[in-house]
Amino acid sequence: MKYTCNETFERLQDYLDRELSEDETRLVDEHLSGCGVCAEEYEFEAMVLRHVQCRVREPLAPADLFSKIQASLAAESSAA
Ligand SMILES: [Zn+2]
Repeated sequence: MKYTCNETFERLQDYLDRELSEDETRLVDEHLSGCGVCAEEYEFEAMVLRHVQCRVREPLAPADLFSKIQASLAAESSAA
């Protein structure tokens, strides 16, 4: 049995989250090693995921946005 591109796509997110069963993981692995389109999509998703995880670890709001929020909070509390 082999996964089609659609079946692989449907499981890509779970594959990245390592939530697939051993069998499913192997089938996705097999498809990715033989299909450039899905391998590319996988690379993209993996890159996005790394990026998101990086953001979660270091929430880097731009400094001026942060001070704007603080300023508006201060304005609100002084108005109330
Ligand atoms: Zn494919």
